[in-house]
Amino acid sequence: MPTGAPTGAPTLERWLAGPRFGPLPMRGAGHKAPALSFEFMPPKTEAMEQQLWTCIGRLAPLQPRFVSVTYGAGGSTQARTHATVTRLVRETSLVPAAHLTCVGAGREEVDAVARSYWEAGVRHIVALRGDAPAGESYAPHPSGYAFAVDLVAGLKRVAPFDISVAAYPEAHPQAVSRVGDLDNLKRKLDAGASRAITNFFFDTSVYLRFLDLCLAAGITAPIVPGIMPVTNLAGLRRMATLSGIGIPDWLVHMFDGLDDDVETRRMVAAVVTAEQVRLLQANGVDEFHFYTLNRAELTYSIAHILGVRPVSPPPPAAPAV
Ligand SMILES: Cc1cc2nc3c(=O)[nH]c(=O)nc-3n(C[C@H](O)[C@H](O)[C@H](O)COP(=O)(O)OP(=O)(O)OC[C@H]3O[C@@H](n4cnc5c(N)ncnc54)[C@H](O)[C@@H]3O)c2cc1C
Repeated sequence: MPTGAPTGAPTLERWLAGPRFGPLPMRGAGHKAPALSFEFMPPKTEAMEQQLWTCIGRLAPLQPRFVSVTYGAGGSTQARTHATVTRLVRETSLVPAAHLTCVGAGREEVDAVARSYWEAGVRHIVALRGDAPAGESYAPHPSGYAFAVDLVAGLKRVAPFDISVAAYPEAHPQAVSRVGDLDNLKRKLDAGASRAITNFFFDTSVYLRFLDLCLAAGITAPIVPGIMPVTNLAGLRRMATLSGIGIPDWLVHMFDGLDDDVETRRMVAAVVTAEQVRLLQANGVDEFHFYTLNRAELTYSIAHILGVRPVSPPPPAAPAV
C-alpha cells in the first residue's frame, strides 16, 4: 500500500501515491453473502398495509434471517404488531420477530402477549424497555418489568425464545455512564439474549470502536449494525435528536439543496448507505439489520451491493402425463 504523497506534491504523484479503496466484493473467491434482517412497522391504515406487504413481497426472496415488527411507543400498537407478526407466520415462510416493550403493562400482561406469540408459532422476540410517551420521562409500570434485562429474563421463563436486544454505539441517552450502558448490554445478553441490534449510526468508526469496547467488556455475541438508509434529512433529524444520534456534517452536506429533489436524494442515499455497509463489510461485519421504514427499494439495492441475491424462482411444474 503506498504511503501517500504530501498534499503539496504534483498532481499525478499525489493521485498515484494516495490511499486505495479495497475492491468491491467478488462473487465466489471465498465471498459469502452476509446475513440480513429487515425491520418493519405495523401499518396504521389500509393503504399502509398494502405498502408493507408490497415491501415484504419484494424483500422476502432475499431470504432474510428474520424480519422484525416494531411495537409502537407506549405499547400503542400491541394489536397491530400482533396482527402483522401472526400474518407473517400464516402467509410467508419468513422467520418473524416481534418487538415487545416493558412500557404500560404489568408482567402478567406482557407474559400473556409473549405466550400468545409462542402459541402462534413465533420464536423470536426483540426485547426492549421502550420509552415514555413524548414529553414524559420513563417510569416502570408498578407491576411491570422495569428494564429490558428484566424482560429478557421474564421471556425466558415463558418459553425458550430466541431474543434480540438493543445496543447503542453512541450510548443510550439516559445511560448513567458509558460503562454502565455496556454493563447493561452485557447483563441483557447474560440473561438470555443471543444478539444485540444497534441503533442506527452514521459515523462507522463509532460503531467499530463500540465493538472493541464490547469485546473488552467480555461480550462475544454479535452486535449487529442497524442500518438506516436515509432519504429525508428532516425526518432523520427528528429521530436522531430523540435517540441521541450524531448527524455528521458530511451527511448534512450530502443532502444540502436537495429538499425538493426526491430522485437525487434517493440516489445519494443509496451511495451513502452502500459506502457505510461496504466499510463495515471490509472490517469483517457479515450481519446487517435494515430499518426499512416499510420501503423496499433502497434496502433491496444495498442488499444487492452486499452480494445478496434473491432465491431463484422454483422450476416449472412437470407437465401432466
Ligand atoms: C434495534 C432497536 C429496536 C427498537 N424497537 C423499538 C420498538 O419496537 N418499540 C419501542 O417503543 N422502542 C424501540 N426501540 C427504542 C428503545 O425502546 C429505547 O431506546 C428505550 O429508551 C431503551 O430501550 P432498551 O431496551 O435499550 O432499554 P434498557 O436496556 O433497559 O436500557 C435503558 C436505559 O436504562 C439504563 N439502565 C438499565 N438498567 C438500569 C438500572 N437498573 N438502573 C438505572 N439505569 C438502568 C440503560 O443504561 C439505558 O440507559 C428500539 C431500539 C433499538 C436499538
